[in-house]
Amino acid sequence: MRVVNAFLCFLLLTFLGYDHAVAFQAEVSPAGIYPGDAFIIKVTGLDAGQAPEAFLGKKPFYFSDCGEGCSLAIGSIGLETKPGTRAVKLIVGGSKASINLHVKKADFPTIHLTLPDSKVFLGPEDLKRAQTEAERLKAVWDGISDKLWEGKFILPLDNKTSTAFGVKRVMNKKKVSIHRGVDIKGKKGDKIKAFNRGRVVLADDLFFGGNTLVLDHGQGIFSIYMHMSKFNVRPGDIVEKGEIVGLVGATGRASGPHLHFSTKVRNISTNPLSLLELAL
Ligand SMILES: [Zn+2]
Repeated sequence: MRVVNAFLCFLLLTFLGYDHAVAFQAEVSPAGIYPGDAFIIKVTGLDAGQAPEAFLGKKPFYFSDCGEGCSLAIGSIGLETKPGTRAVKLIVGGSKASINLHVKKADFPTIHLTLPDSKVFLGPEDLKRAQTEAERLKAVWDGISDKLWEGKFILPLDNKTSTAFGVKRVMNKKKVSIHRGVDIKGKKGDKIKAFNRGRVVLADDLFFGGNTLVLDHGQGIFSIYMHMSKFNVRPGDIVEKGEIVGLVGATGRASGPHLHFSTKVRNISTNPLSLLELAL
């Protein structure tokens, strides 16, 4: 496949019918992404009522309207994705096409930490609790509900980040943990805002995350807020973008007050900062 070295990968596809020409355009942006990043697939020039379908591997994307003859979907690729070109398969009105997604080489840093063994290696009871909670969360990520998100995503706490997305932490030379979110600096009691419009699907005290809040923004997009000192919302609530959902704390396995913020897109751990950059 030819690699197009352009900021925006632009593809024009024209299909001729017997009595009329149908033309649509499909683009993926940004054209070059790092493992763990989000991207947009935008299809324009669609006929009225025409709904595109797209797949990466077997996983479908979820489209929504972006104006007349326009449909867009948000996707992301996993942290472990190797650099190279991936083809997103597109089906529009019975016509098939493919769009190239260019994955750049990631350079995630490794941090070595030494902590008391009791903080690194869990006892059988803690391990059991952590595993049960991990299963519970896994079931949440599988849920695909109707779109609630609207427009651009916003940072829940407007401070600098301390630990970046993708950092590999090696604790006591043995335990490896990949940081699948960003740590945002904060003081106890700082207000946390909703990343976008969504439904509260979890607000509970978890072993690692402490007070953990999960918002379902629809179409397989979730935002997760950990170590909170207080929840302002309850499961089932619909929250608006920017609404105060709770306060910063240091509950669970946190060394001090901060917000561990992470996002899932179609069950893929996604760099939340890349979602903020999307041209929505
Ligand atoms: Zn963290």
